Amino acid sequence: MDETLIKKMIASIKCGSCGQNYDEDHIEIVEHNDELWFLKVSCPSCHVRCLVAAIIRENARPEVLTDLTEEEMEKFKNLGNVRDEDLLAMHDFLKDFDGDFPTLFEREE
Ligand SMILES: [Zn+2]
Repeated sequence: MDETLIKKMIASIKCGSCGQNYDEDHIEIVEHNDELWFLKVSCPSCHVRCLVAAIIRENARPEVLTDLTEEEMEKFKNLGNVRDEDLLAMHDFLKDFDGDFPTLFEREE
């Protein structure tokens, strides 16, 4: 999948802090594993930085699983780096929930 396209899709997500849409220039792809992508984003408006995990499929809206603020990211870092096994485990876990994303991960707007 084209990284430019990924960034475009992530740019359609709104900042959890101020509601501003992210923009493509402030999105950095950390890593991905099939449809699971980890991205670093920073809000162009309030400058809050987040780590976003999202399931991205072609011809579908990205499904945001979690976004961690910088503070939460520090905690996350203390637990060690994200390893391939973690990604795979998460991916497998998420597969079981296929189809239930809209209810599981519905975000308050
Ligand atoms: Zn913001």
